[in-house]
Amino acid sequence: MGTTTPLADKDRIFTNLYGFQSPDLKAAQARGDWDNTAALMARGQDGIIDEIKASGLRGRGGAGFPTGMKWSFMPKEPKPGKPNFLVINADESEPGSCKDREILRHDPHKLLEGALIAGFAMRARAAYIYVRGEFLQETDVLRAAVAQAYAAGLLGTNAASSGFDFDVFVHRGAGAYICGEETAMLESLEGKKGFPRLKPPFPAGAGLYGCPTTVNNVESIAVVPTILRRGAAWFASFGNPKNEGTKLFQISGHVNTPCVVEESMSIPFRELIDRHAGGIRGGWDNLLAVIPGGSSVPLVPAAEIMDAPMDFDGLKALGSGLGTAAVIVMDKSTDIVRAISRISYFYKHESCGQCTPCREGTGWMWRTMERLRTGDADPGTIDRLIDVTKQVEGHTICALGDAAAWPIQGLVRHFRPELERRIAEREGGAMMEAAE
Ligand code: SF4
Repeated sequence: MGTTTPLADKDRIFTNLYGFQSPDLKAAQARGDWDNTAALMARGQDGIIDEIKASGLRGRGGAGFPTGMKWSFMPKEPKPGKPNFLVINADESEPGSCKDREILRHDPHKLLEGALIAGFAMRARAAYIYVRGEFLQETDVLRAAVAQAYAAGLLGTNAASSGFDFDVFVHRGAGAYICGEETAMLESLEGKKGFPRLKPPFPAGAGLYGCPTTVNNVESIAVVPTILRRGAAWFASFGNPKNEGTKLFQISGHVNTPCVVEESMSIPFRELIDRHAGGIRGGWDNLLAVIPGGSSVPLVPAAEIMDAPMDFDGLKALGSGLGTAAVIVMDKSTDIVRAISRISYFYKHESCGQCTPCREGTGWMWRTMERLRTGDADPGTIDRLIDVTKQVEGHTICALGDAAAWPIQGLVRHFRPELERRIAEREGGAMMEAAE
């Protein structure tokens, strides 16, 4: 059984999360990064994968797929002319998410050391780090870190004296949300439009340039060296079973002190907010609802989330999800219909337009949400809207269709009376006008 006791400073992986120290190589080495990396790699590729599997690490980019298992899908003996590749997803564009940028700009060497070890474990020839287009400063810091690592012999030929050759390329995107989807990212890296690909084939079979590829989130890779140094059992001692480890939570919205903080997975919501975010603005009675995992997951009303464990399975049980652990807190001053309508607009704007349910559905859903916001609808509109979200969900090439449908489904599930009130109020107003 895991623990939800407060995470002690000695157990923090990201010791420079707030940038109090330099991101440079010398400072990173003083914090313990790149400390005899070759010894970690000497455990062998399968040994590393087994250790990551035993740690219980699940992908930190949203899907929560077991990281070690994902690596094990890569060919053990790459064919000539078909090298394995690691792609690191640093396209952090989900509204509410802001953790990977802290790693990029304050702790980039943790990511680079993790890239070398993960790349070695999956027999990759190189890693491509795809950085969100808007992250100018972050890209500069990362590129400087890569140059330092090459100059110190930590990357390139015989990387970190391990006998393994490994290159790292940094690629800055052009600012499209959809390029955070793993196959759209591969298209974009290849110089094409960021259109998601149909799966199968999955990237582990045919990914970047048609070669076997694994796409991992920044945080998933950056925690790898510490897991290997401190052991799988240490990492697995945090959180509930199947939800192990420490996690970067990003708390925004109506809290007193919004922050990014590393905590034990499965920490109860109330504890997370009281301990790190200074409580809810106006007190706990003022809490309306929370979007616990970034804009694409359904909201959870105050009463349900209060004591919920902040992990994959705990939030799934509430009909929502941990996503990237981007916790968006909304107090009672929030116009909840407007808030979800604004999210609908975002997904309409970011749809790549390849598939009809998403291209047409996201626009229709947003327009309907806008009508519901003002009550300019008939009572049947709510059911029609839900029906359309079901026709979009699960019927598209990539998960953006689901991401557009789920927030609306969450709103109707928990705030249907509010939608009905607006319709009734407007109808009442119209009848009064007609009578006058
Ligand atoms: Fe493009 Fe939307 Fe289809 Fe994804 S679901 S491929 S974003 S149209």
